[in-house]
Amino acid sequence: MKILKQLEQRRKWAEDERILLDQVRRIADTVIAPNAARYDREEAFPQASVDAVKSLGLNAIFVPEAYGGAPMSYRLYLAVVQTIAEACASTGVIYATNFHGMKPLIDFGTEEQKKRLLPRVAAGALASLAITEAAGGSDATAMTMRFTPDGDDIVVDGNKLFITSGDVADLLLVFGKWSEIEDPKQAISSLIFEKDTPGFEVVRVEEKLGHRASSTATLAFNQCRVPRANLLGKPGEGLALLLASLNKSRPSIAAHALGIATAAFKDMVAYMNTRAVGGHHVIDFQANQFLIADLAAELAMTEAWLDYVASLIDDGATDFGLEASIAKLRASDLAMRMTTEAVQMHGGYGYIRDYRVERLMRDAKITQIWEGTNQVHRQLIGRSFIER
Ligand SMILES: Cc1cc2nc3c(=O)[nH]c(=O)nc-3n(C[C@H](O)[C@H](O)[C@H](O)COP(=O)(O)OP(=O)(O)OC[C@H]3O[C@@H](n4cnc5c(N)ncnc54)[C@H](O)[C@@H]3O)c2cc1C
Repeated sequence: MKILKQLEQRRKWAEDERILLDQVRRIADTVIAPNAARYDREEAFPQASVDAVKSLGLNAIFVPEAYGGAPMSYRLYLAVVQTIAEACASTGVIYATNFHGMKPLIDFGTEEQKKRLLPRVAAGALASLAITEAAGGSDATAMTMRFTPDGDDIVVDGNKLFITSGDVADLLLVFGKWSEIEDPKQAISSLIFEKDTPGFEVVRVEEKLGHRASSTATLAFNQCRVPRANLLGKPGEGLALLLASLNKSRPSIAAHALGIATAAFKDMVAYMNTRAVGGHHVIDFQANQFLIADLAAELAMTEAWLDYVASLIDDGATDFGLEASIAKLRASDLAMRMTTEAVQMHGGYGYIRDYRVERLMRDAKITQIWEGTNQVHRQLIGRSFIER
């Protein structure tokens, strides 16, 4: 573990960032990690862990000061996501989804919207990002959710599928099509939706392979009336807004996947150093040393790439979609490979619930699917090289 510790110690943080990271590490070790297996087994919302996140005011680090926040760098935010996800992937994605859902409001909201809504986010409100529908997640333009203007309101009608925290979120960023615009891409619009709006219904909460403590909900919006003041941007600006916000949520998902990969790597190395087989520890076999060498190298390189993407964003870059795709693709593939190998290095014990790697492998799979499947990311990266 020496090289990973060394890399961690050499990462440069400002004093206040280091203090916050130490505090996050403390709640991760004392509250979030010790409760993770139980919440997973019971498929229960990780209330104690979410409360611990709230107690440190971690939503505030991505909300501007003018609206009740205490902003820190995007790089620091990613390190927080990674640390929480290492302790509990479900809590990690609940926290990250607050950012994914509300960052577009921060970046594109009007002054009035931000003054009205962001203090709640800074204080710890839960958020959702509602894009996916049965018509297809990879093709957002296929969505059928309708936004129909009616006086000072917008009537929201349709369903959303697989929405993280959809049943518990206070505020949801919802994407739909503006009824007065015909073109399916040009029609996409977005608005902030409050959970108590009449007509809003949680239809079902999924039972899942992994991330069992994070709820994934099907939502129905039955002629819900939302004040027009909650429209984000203008009618039809949703697609541009969606793409811009996905660019910032994809590195966040990469950090989350790296948290899972880091947990698996630590458990794997610790087990290999203690489990003796035929008079040797599992780590003494050269084939296994080669395996962990490859995985350690991949982990270090992926972290360095993510740090690079974060620094681009902190330096104000606007065109970083491909870099974000590479981070998401690489980190999630690594999480899946790392957790699979960690189970393998545990032998039969890896398949048993007593060992954390069993959960980590289940938790890892979705990272290759959400925020754009890895096929979609490969397509985005690959087609950027077409010259004609
Ligand atoms: C636990 C969980 C949480 C989620 N959270 C959210 C959330 O908070 N908000 C939200 O909006 N959505 C969420 N999703 C939805 C998720 O983002 C979608 O499931 C994902 O985008 C894939 O969409 P789909 O399931 O419709 O698969 P499809 O789009 O039907 O894809 C099926 C298969 O076709 C492949 N495919 C599609 N297009 C291409 C292509 N161009 N080239 C090659 N292969 C392709 C895909 O890679 C996949 O293998 C969540 C899903 C899950 C399971």
